[in-house]
Amino acid sequence: MSKIRVRIAPSPTGYVHIGNIRTILFNYFFARQMKGDFIVRIEDTDQTRLVDDALVHLLKVLKDLKIDYDEGPYLDENDKILEKGDFGSYIQSERKKSGIYKKFAEELIEKGYAYRCFCTPERLEEMRKNLQEKNLPTKYDRKCLHLTQKEIDEKIANGEKFVIRLKVPDNEQIEFEDWTYGKISTPSNSIDDQVLLKSDGFPTYHLAVVVDDHLMQISHIFRGEDWLPSTPKHILIYKAFGWEIPQHVHIPNVLQPNKKKLSKRFEDVSTRNYLEKGYLPEAIWNYLSFVGWNPGTEQEIMSREEILKSFDIHKIQKSGGIFNIEKLDWYNGIYIRKLSIDEFVSRSKRFLINAKILTEKDFEDSEKLKYIKKVLGLVQKRIKILSEVPESVNSFFSENIQVDKKLLTTKGKEKTKEILQKVFENLTNLEIWTHDELSKNLESIAEIFGRSQVFFTTRVAITGKQFSPGVFESLEVLGKERSLKRIKKLI
Ligand code: GLU
Repeated sequence: MSKIRVRIAPSPTGYVHIGNIRTILFNYFFARQMKGDFIVRIEDTDQTRLVDDALVHLLKVLKDLKIDYDEGPYLDENDKILEKGDFGSYIQSERKKSGIYKKFAEELIEKGYAYRCFCTPERLEEMRKNLQEKNLPTKYDRKCLHLTQKEIDEKIANGEKFVIRLKVPDNEQIEFEDWTYGKISTPSNSIDDQVLLKSDGFPTYHLAVVVDDHLMQISHIFRGEDWLPSTPKHILIYKAFGWEIPQHVHIPNVLQPNKKKLSKRFEDVSTRNYLEKGYLPEAIWNYLSFVGWNPGTEQEIMSREEILKSFDIHKIQKSGGIFNIEKLDWYNGIYIRKLSIDEFVSRSKRFLINAKILTEKDFEDSEKLKYIKKVLGLVQKRIKILSEVPESVNSFFSENIQVDKKLLTTKGKEKTKEILQKVFENLTNLEIWTHDELSKNLESIAEIFGRSQVFFTTRVAITGKQFSPGVFESLEVLGKERSLKRIKKLI
């Protein structure tokens, strides 16, 4: 068998979204399991829909998610796009420069599988309208299929613009075997004479994808189910050239909880957005692998290596997988808890700096760093997304904390004051400032006023927050002087 070569072929027409990443991962798993090559090819032939930084964005996401590949474009340290691999360029607008797509489209004309079409956009629009009015499929009416060579030559000599269309055979069944959906059989009469080469010389997706998959010796095509209706057209092109047809595997879409397609309107589904908010790459991996697939056991937490071992492309679900943000949050919380404290600090760093709670310098000062670690250690268990870190720790880094007094006065102002005064007195006399001593010490007050009153009131007094780490650990990390100052201020 020839070498397994698998590609992803994203179009930089928008920021790569979380559903695309799931499809990319399934490609990746198969390529790595089969010890094949994994290739990234950029399909940017629809120049009108390009989004400027979408390509750089995509390459960064692949890098951040540690989805490694053997061939294709990548970024150097300065975010300059370079390419690796023997089948380059891997960017279709670059490949077009050598004239390959035009050459192949012309080859199809010579072989009788394609023809030039000189119809103007206005005529096509008119034709489409007429068909729509009659409730007929809006296929091209083949006006230019029957032009004589003389007519064609004259039109070209007159400088008339043309596209090249595929000549779809009449009354045939086009068949292929899809790994997910089984045998697919499409009547050729339902297929339009697809444009292969546009008048500006750019290929359409259909021509470029077939030419490049062939030239790059792709053995397996894994792509979203959206592309299933395009595949019969591709099969026709492969056959017209006499090329071997790769295996096709269409992967069900990732859906919103309401079963609609994942879309920007649902929420900002761009993968960069998730990474920026502080979802960990390892959580995204684990979660997305389980959207539309599972190992058939109860196990939900799996490392990259485990997933790579167990993943089975034949066991992906035919119905679309549902994207459930609560589940992703759950995974993220688990992976955050798995981090060593040093790693948690390092991943939280940019959030703390951006929120202006700490500076780069603070992390270089070994004393401060010790304190930062202690504080972050208090919240690591409770954080689900790294972007929650600043809000959860800010009161440990600022003396200027705001206490919402409404939180404190459920038992009345006087009672609260009495509790705080008692806590202040007791703690002033406490010499050993450790979690256990603090706990013993406050327990005696708790017996008088009730645990939740004492602990909650003290916690709010020193952190200003309704939800925060436990009172003893907070007091311990904050230290005696700062804790007492805060309690006093509130009294
Ligand atoms: N360029 C297509 C996309 O943007 C790729 C489809 C395919 O994999 O053939 O998704």
